Amino acid sequence: MENSKINKFAELIRESNSIVFFGGAGVSTESGMKDYRSEDGLYNTVKKYKVSPETILSHSFFETHPDVFYDFYYNYFLNTAAEPNRAHLALAELEKQGKLKAVVTQNIDGLHQRAGSKNVIELHGTTLKHYCTDCKAVMPNEQIKALRGQIPRCEKCNHIVRPDVVLYEEPLNQSVIEAAALAISSADMLIIGGTSLAVYPAANFIRYFKGESIVLINRDATQYDGNANLVFRESIGEVLESVMLSL
Ligand SMILES: [Zn+2]
Repeated sequence: MENSKINKFAELIRESNSIVFFGGAGVSTESGMKDYRSEDGLYNTVKKYKVSPETILSHSFFETHPDVFYDFYYNYFLNTAAEPNRAHLALAELEKQGKLKAVVTQNIDGLHQRAGSKNVIELHGTTLKHYCTDCKAVMPNEQIKALRGQIPRCEKCNHIVRPDVVLYEEPLNQSVIEAAALAISSADMLIIGGTSLAVYPAANFIRYFKGESIVLINRDATQYDGNANLVFRESIGEVLESVMLSL
């Protein structure tokens, strides 16, 4: 990795007082989270269930085939040994130093919180919380995991328990959208990582940014590369760890 670029990145951080990080799947894959959107994920899912991951993770499919939904959901989201990686840890440290004001993430794995981040805005919800579709009673995560992909049912009313994630066909939570928009519009620096920004609504949120500097860290090119002060194609964990050491 070029030292001069890392130094420039560190300089931008030193000049900023209100940084927001906007992240996507690429942040979690470096933790070993399985990516159902990858070619492998798609191939294996269609082979096993005869439908795409996006179909399984949709509201209507959850309602009609909760058994298949939970089998898939357990395999991809619950039965994982993923731990926070260097990117999560660097961002938590940046928040501790008072520089970073919020993490806005499209991920649902809770790894930012486990790394120590406090202000995490989860656009698509979280797999760390599950609640009854009828009485809304919360079922502890350990209980859900112990079922190993069987349908969890509410202990109070026997209705199906669902994850607190936004499924396909479902709208994002309005208060979460507002919190993300407010954080991004108040920031003086935006670090975008592990997302191609190609999927709605990611790109929409970037438009709220009115600050000075944008740093983009993603393996592939994005349509926003031209708007960024710095673009990194390397591992997000490596880039963020390096810049923390250069501060
Ligand atoms: Zn219930």
